[in-house]
Amino acid sequence: MKHFDAIIIGTGQAGPSLAARFAGAGKSVAIIERHKFGGTCVNTGCIPTKTLVASAYAAHVARRGDEYGFAAGDVRVDMKRVKARKDAVSGRSNKGVEEWLRGLENCTVIQGHARFQSSRTILVNDETLEADKIFINVGGRASVPPMPGIQDVPFLTNSSMMDVDFLPGHLVVVGGSYVGLEFGQMYRRFGSEVTIVEKGPRLIGREDEDVSQAVREILEAEGIRFRLNAKCISLLKQGSRIGVGVDCEGGAPEALGTHVLLAVGRTPNTHDLGLERAGVTTDDRGYILVDDQLQTNVPGIWALGDCNGRGAFTHTSYNDYEIVADNLFNADHRRVSDRMTAYALYTDPPLGRCGMTDAEIRKSGRRALTTKYPMSRVSRAFERRDTRLHQNYGGRGNKTDSGRSDSWHRRR
Ligand SMILES: Cc1cc2nc3c(=O)[nH]c(=O)nc-3n(C[C@H](O)[C@H](O)[C@H](O)COP(=O)(O)OP(=O)(O)OC[C@H]3O[C@@H](n4cnc5c(N)ncnc54)[C@H](O)[C@@H]3O)c2cc1C
Repeated sequence: MKHFDAIIIGTGQAGPSLAARFAGAGKSVAIIERHKFGGTCVNTGCIPTKTLVASAYAAHVARRGDEYGFAAGDVRVDMKRVKARKDAVSGRSNKGVEEWLRGLENCTVIQGHARFQSSRTILVNDETLEADKIFINVGGRASVPPMPGIQDVPFLTNSSMMDVDFLPGHLVVVGGSYVGLEFGQMYRRFGSEVTIVEKGPRLIGREDEDVSQAVREILEAEGIRFRLNAKCISLLKQGSRIGVGVDCEGGAPEALGTHVLLAVGRTPNTHDLGLERAGVTTDDRGYILVDDQLQTNVPGIWALGDCNGRGAFTHTSYNDYEIVADNLFNADHRRVSDRMTAYALYTDPPLGRCGMTDAEIRKSGRRALTTKYPMSRVSRAFERRDTRLHQNYGGRGNKTDSGRSDSWHRRR
C-alpha cells in the first residue's frame, strides 16, 4: 500500500492548487482524476461557454454593423470553426493544468476513478493508497430529472453541447437559469430559433423580480421565446422533431424543436465514491456535509468545491482551497460562512451579483441604501449604442428630486 501525506480526488478548481501547496511544503501528495484535467470549468463550463459567448457576441455586433457605420454583409456563423476555437481555448487550459500537476515535485498524478475503501484508504486502478488527510474535489454534473419521455428522446446537456459543431434549427432549452440563459442567447445569436421552458413563474428565480423581468425583456427582444410556469415538463419524439410538453393535462407538446438542452441544475459526483465505506455523510441530494472549515463529519476528510453544496462557482471552489490551505498551513481560522456571495450571469449585457438581493435585505430587516441607474442615463451606453433597459428600468425606493433613486430606508 502506498502512503501519502495527502490524497486529493478530482482536479477541479480546488484540487490542483491544494496539491501544489502540499507539494511546495515538501509533503507527498497524490492527485487523482478520472476524466479531463481541470474539471467542469475548464472542459464543459466557464471557459468553453464564455469562449462561445464571445463568438456569439461578435456575430451579434457584426449583424448590427449598419448601426455603427459599417457593412458586414450577410453574417453566417460557421459552427465548425466556432467549436474549433472553443476547443483550442479550453484545450489550452486543460493541458496547462495537467502539465502543471505533472511538473510538481512530490506530487503523484494518477488517472482513474477513485473510491474510498475506508476513511484512510482510496482504491484507484486496483491500487490502494493511504493518507492521513483526504480531500474530495469531485464537482458535479448536469441533473437529468426523471421527466416523462426522458428515456426515449435524445437530449443535450452542458457536456454534450461541447461536441455540437452544427447549428440546431430550433433549440428548446429546459431551464431558465444561468446555464440555460447563456446557452439560449448564444445559440439565438448563432442563428437558431430558441425557446426556453422554465417551470417557475419567472427566470433566474433567486434574483429579484425586476432583475428577472429585465433579463427576460432583453432576451425576448432578440427573438427568444419563453414558456414559464411549465409545471409538468415532458419530452416527446414527433417525427424528426422533439416536443417539450409544459402542462400536466398532456396533449400536444407546447414547444416543438429540433434539439433539447437540459439545463435544470447540477448533481454532485458523490454517488460512486464509496463515501459509505469512509463513513462520510451527505444530504439527501448527495452534497457532502461539511463544517465551516470544510471538514466532513470524518476527521481527516475535507470536501471542497461544488460537491459540498456551499458554492457552485469556480471562484467559490478556489476560495474553498484558500480556506482549507490557510487553516492547515498558516494555522488560520478562515470560515466559509465569512464568504460574500458574488457571481455573474454571462448574458449580454451581463448580470453581476455581489452580496444580498433586495428581497433578502428586506427579509433580514436591515437598513440598506439602494439605487438604480438606468442605462439610458449612462453616456458610455449611448456611445456603445446599448441603452437596453431604457423604458422599463424605473426607480426603486424613494426617488429624490434629482431624479436619482438613491434612498436610505429601513427594509421591512
Ligand atoms: C455550463 C456551465 C458554465 C459555467 N460557467 C461558470 C462561470 O462562468 N463562472 C463560474 O464561476 N462558474 C461557472 N460554472 C460553474 C463552475 O464550472 C463550477 O462551479 C466549478 O467548475 C466547480 O469546480 P469544482 O472544483 O467543484 O469541481 P469540477 O470542476 O467539477 O471538477 C471535479 C473533477 O473531479 C473529477 N472526479 C469526479 N469524481 C471522481 C472520482 N471518483 N475519481 C477521480 N476523479 C473524479 C471530475 O472528472 C472532474 O474533473 C459553470 C458551470 C457550467 C456547467
